[in-house]
Amino acid sequence: MNVKEFIEDLRTRFPNEPEYIQAVEEVVASIADVYDRYPAFKSVNLLERLCIPDRIISFRVSWVDDKGRVRNNMGYRVQHNNAIGPYKGGIRFHSSVNLSILKFLAFEQTFKNSLTTLAMGGAKGGSDFSPRGKSDMEIMRFCQAFVNELWRQIGPDTDVPAGDIGVGAREVGYMFGWYKKMTREFTGTFTGKGLDFGGSLIRPEATGYGNVYFLLNMLATRGIDLKGKRVAISGSGNVALYTAEKLLKLGAKVVSLSDSDGSIVIPEGLTQEMFDEIFELKTLFRGRISEFAEKHPDACTYYRRERPWKHVKADIAMPSATQNELDGDDARALLENGCIAVSEGANMPSTPDAIREFQNARILYAPGKAANAGGVSVSGLEMAQNSQKMNWTAEEVDARLCGIMADIHEQCAKYGKEEDGYINYVRGANTAGFLKVARAMMAQGVV
Ligand code: NDP
Repeated sequence: MNVKEFIEDLRTRFPNEPEYIQAVEEVVASIADVYDRYPAFKSVNLLERLCIPDRIISFRVSWVDDKGRVRNNMGYRVQHNNAIGPYKGGIRFHSSVNLSILKFLAFEQTFKNSLTTLAMGGAKGGSDFSPRGKSDMEIMRFCQAFVNELWRQIGPDTDVPAGDIGVGAREVGYMFGWYKKMTREFTGTFTGKGLDFGGSLIRPEATGYGNVYFLLNMLATRGIDLKGKRVAISGSGNVALYTAEKLLKLGAKVVSLSDSDGSIVIPEGLTQEMFDEIFELKTLFRGRISEFAEKHPDACTYYRRERPWKHVKADIAMPSATQNELDGDDARALLENGCIAVSEGANMPSTPDAIREFQNARILYAPGKAANAGGVSVSGLEMAQNSQKMNWTAEEVDARLCGIMADIHEQCAKYGKEEDGYINYVRGANTAGFLKVARAMMAQGVV
């Protein structure tokens, strides 16, 4: 079966899973050459085994809201591949969650985790439960009901969940608490925990900081200085906020942010005071980005229900909200406005059409699985600290994060450099991630 037939076959078998097919198609297209070079891979049907998850656990989550009503949501864990280490990947709570989205995320996670150089397989989980508008007690009850179903399937050497969209320190804390109660063990089964009970310093910051470190590595290949550059960011959650924080520290200008209701564009760039205000609004009060816009009509423009890309003049774009949030038209608008680099904080935020535009324009373009791998890397460091029962300093963790991002960049450059010197980061990340997992799968036989 050639690559095209393979994708067609997947499409037939999983007809309602467009995000999953999209992610597989991108990876398979870029590793086809390497795969074909080694007939041994084909002889054990490695591609199909690598693309179809090891196992999917799905369950009903019943919980009681503050009015005493019984509510039901779906819960899932996709354990994609554990050839190089225990399953590892975040939990997403968002109304849009379905199996296609979690399968794409678990698939991507497998390659990303392989790139980090740490021993972690790939997984993802979540629920169509939305924490938005829910009280703390409702969220706690939901998290407990969710883990009540999942706890038998996870463990420090089996599967280690973390946060993702809608799941931050609060939700991880509630899930960890219930897991501890059910198992009567205090282990490092979740990452992203609070600092008082096994969390790692720099874990909240890691995805955003890591993305900026990756960007610096990319810019260095062209001798470009980040200082003074205008950077458009989408989202205003964990990843977006720590990306903005690091950019401001390094002297770049943050010219946009967003949430699912709309975007703000700040032509002169966020000041540190404005950033602090947004940080407090989003993290302490769980407020909306429109509230900031209402308070600062002179400094920024609010675009209701719109993404920032067509409204912003930026040198660099760092999409950090969700999948498929930057399409071909957005990419063309960014390029027309002089964008020279895109580094993805979110998972698969650019559509295939947008990626084609960036690569055809020969700008620096880093896919999420490379650029946002800092989060799971520090999760891996949290697991290491938990098993040693030690805590490393913030400086130590940050230095390791910096080193890992440089290493990921090097792997991308090694496998992604084209004849004209252009680094195809998509090809580089997919090939490097694939080879490590493939070698481990070959060695372990058909399991
Ligand atoms: P958060 O929940 O903290 O923030 C998500 C942000 O994106 C919010 O501003 C949210 O707006 C916005 N958003 C969510 N869904 C949509 C949507 N459908 N359309 C427009 N905006 C949306 O999540 P994170 O910051 O943790 O995650 C952001 C991205 O980064 C995701 O793709 C995630 O998979 C990826 N990622 C996260 C890692 C981590 O360590 N947290 C690690 C690696 C990748 P609103 O508040 O209105 O919902």
